[in-house]
Amino acid sequence: MKSTSSAIHTYDTIVVGGGIAGLTSAAYLSRAGRKVLLIEKNRECGGLVNTFSHNGFRFDAGVRALEDAGIIFPMLQDLGIQLETVKSPVSIGVENEILHVRDGSSLGEYRDMLARLYPESTKEIDDVIVVIRKIMKYMDVLYGVENPVFKDMKRDREFVMKQLLPWLPKFLLTVRKINKLDTPVEEYLDTIIQNRSLRDIIAQHFFRSTPTFFALSYFSLYLDYFYPKGGVGQLAQVLADKIRKEGGEIRTETTVTEVFSDEHTIRDDHGSEYAYDNLIWAADLKTLYRLTQTEGLTRKEQETISRKKTTVLERRGSESIFSLFLEVDTPLETFREIAHGHFFYTPSKRGLNETHHADLQQLLSTWQQADRERVFSWLDTFTAYNTYEISIPGLKYPEMAPPGKTGLVVSLLAEYDLFARIREDGWLEEFTAELETRIVRVLSK
Ligand SMILES: Cc1cc2nc3c(=O)[nH]c(=O)nc-3n(C[C@H](O)[C@H](O)[C@H](O)COP(=O)(O)OP(=O)(O)OC[C@H]3O[C@@H](n4cnc5c(N)ncnc54)[C@H](O)[C@@H]3O)c2cc1C
Repeated sequence: MKSTSSAIHTYDTIVVGGGIAGLTSAAYLSRAGRKVLLIEKNRECGGLVNTFSHNGFRFDAGVRALEDAGIIFPMLQDLGIQLETVKSPVSIGVENEILHVRDGSSLGEYRDMLARLYPESTKEIDDVIVVIRKIMKYMDVLYGVENPVFKDMKRDREFVMKQLLPWLPKFLLTVRKINKLDTPVEEYLDTIIQNRSLRDIIAQHFFRSTPTFFALSYFSLYLDYFYPKGGVGQLAQVLADKIRKEGGEIRTETTVTEVFSDEHTIRDDHGSEYAYDNLIWAADLKTLYRLTQTEGLTRKEQETISRKKTTVLERRGSESIFSLFLEVDTPLETFREIAHGHFFYTPSKRGLNETHHADLQQLLSTWQQADRERVFSWLDTFTAYNTYEISIPGLKYPEMAPPGKTGLVVSLLAEYDLFARIREDGWLEEFTAELETRIVRVLSK
């Protein structure tokens, strides 16, 4: 039951969550003259798009670089926002083979690199390259015209007649083809690649259920990466500045703790209450359903929300990303000789094989008997044969590290269940220390 509160502030729209989604909607609404309040629980906005400082290093905590994807640059232009950026080139490496991706033609070099690593599987390599090339063509069609969302369709007749309409049939046809490539990438690769190691080397870049189209479009995506000078968090910063400039209000270090859907009000952790005409929830959905009070709604509305709540709360993540932030007393030049600032590296061509799946499932299903040594031995294999995403912010923009030093963000895909079990058992700190030691050992080699 809601208790009454004294001063209630009223807004046309309240946006909860100052990640990239919340910032974008708040920027557009404030520009449109609405009275907007954005509420963010952290000290700074950005959510997964944020950059933090530590000992003179600057690190990107979530997203390592940005993909324009025909959205970010047109959006910034549309909003009249300046953001200084540089290209963020990618390197891909397996053992001592390292490829610096330059343009579409690098796909041929990738093929040759794989063929040197797996000379017995050139037919399978060629088959997968055909698929990647086909997907790159689909991507060219998808981004073949300027994004219509940011165009004034009523006034810009030339764009509509000369670009949009001729492109539309090709676009629809391509979407149909893409929809056929929605099976999980591992399953799909199983159908064209017999060599387990080769398949792993390609698949272990991605979460297990990543749809084939998205996963195998990575070559196009690598070419699209850019980096704001100062870190990805600069994007959040310029959007927040825009919101304030347009008269929008931002409250940070404020967590929404209750949502009263019948009265169109919310309450925060400081006890303040706000009323809204529209609520945009740009934080996680589970929290929304947990916090929402449905008293006062019709019975039908309550039932609909209750059903939805059950579905949302039952959903659970499986894989997540483990990130290690390293401050190294070695100059940037040492790393520049190895790779670009965004580097996907697999230390062994063997691949994870069953380590990440069957072995882990076995470990989890016999957890009661699993002593720490058994978990650490699994970690040895997991870290030796995994694929690492290594971001070196200083190679993208030199001011990201103190002179003579290098900051690295090393991440790998990890199983959420394993971390959850270990946390429950109370030895997460010991486990992460063991994991970190192994990552550093493997990559130092
Ligand atoms: C390591 C990593 C790499 C990634 N790389 C890419 C990439 O290369 N390209 C790409 O497109 N995507 C990438 N993603 C995905 C991308 O980061 C997300 O899709 C995107 O940032 C999500 O933005 P969001 O605003 O929806 O959510 P979030 O960024 O999660 O923002 C939600 C915000 O809500 C706030 N919040 C939560 N609860 C409350 C509350 N009760 N009250 C107030 N505030 C609250 C949170 O503090 C947070 O700031 C990556 C993700 C990760 C983790």
